[in-house]
Amino acid sequence: MRKKTAVKAMYVLDGGTFLYETAMMVFGKTGETHERIFTPFYAFDTEEGWVLYDTGWPSEAVPLLEGMGWEPKITEENSAVGQLGKIGVSPSDVKKIIVSHLHVDHAGGLQFFPDAQVYVQKDELSYAYYPNSFQALAYARETFAIPDIKWEILEGDGAILPGLTAILANGHTPGLQGLVVELHESGFVLLCADACYLRENFEQSIPPGNTWNAVLAQYALKRYQALQAILDARFFPGHEYDFFTKEVEIGTAIA
Ligand SMILES: [Zn+2]
Repeated sequence: MRKKTAVKAMYVLDGGTFLYETAMMVFGKTGETHERIFTPFYAFDTEEGWVLYDTGWPSEAVPLLEGMGWEPKITEENSAVGQLGKIGVSPSDVKKIIVSHLHVDHAGGLQFFPDAQVYVQKDELSYAYYPNSFQALAYARETFAIPDIKWEILEGDGAILPGLTAILANGHTPGLQGLVVELHESGFVLLCADACYLRENFEQSIPPGNTWNAVLAQYALKRYQALQAILDARFFPGHEYDFFTKEVEIGTAIA
């Protein structure tokens, strides 16, 4: 029998925004179009302490993004510590972190949580150390190669605690994992991360342009669609600016 959810509330946090090529987000799109995207990460108040899903950018990345013309709006306030401070949580309160994947905009805050258990897919961790050259720019070894980090290695889907279940949705990277959240009042939420940058990916089954394996990336979207159908889950895309600025209240408890 399914155990009652241990998640008391979920918070969407603001890791800042930057300009990204549309062609990198939607497979088959051409042209030089850029659009501003949002970098969310999530905190969960649970019966087993605070849990995070992703950790935002490292501040060291900001000058690099500026140099690439990606016009970052990312300040210290957008760091994992800054965002948690706004909801009254200190880094030592965080017991577990689930990382969707180890790209730099998701792993950038791991350094702040030396005591937390960090749930990562085995295939993601090994690939992050030695990515293929066409994907290497998105990984920064200093964000995850942290001495004494407490890795919890997952091999496929993983039940983290009642109400938080990691779902293997690889394709964008070899070990991307989405997260199914169960809330007492709102029901199920499906956090897609970069398997699904935009709603368009989900609704039209189009994998991201920035993809390690496009076929697996499409299957990941199909898995998300199936989960949504079974659970009647509210789906959160990975980075869509309009979604996170218009349809979600940042830093507010969702029960
Ligand atoms: Zn991302």
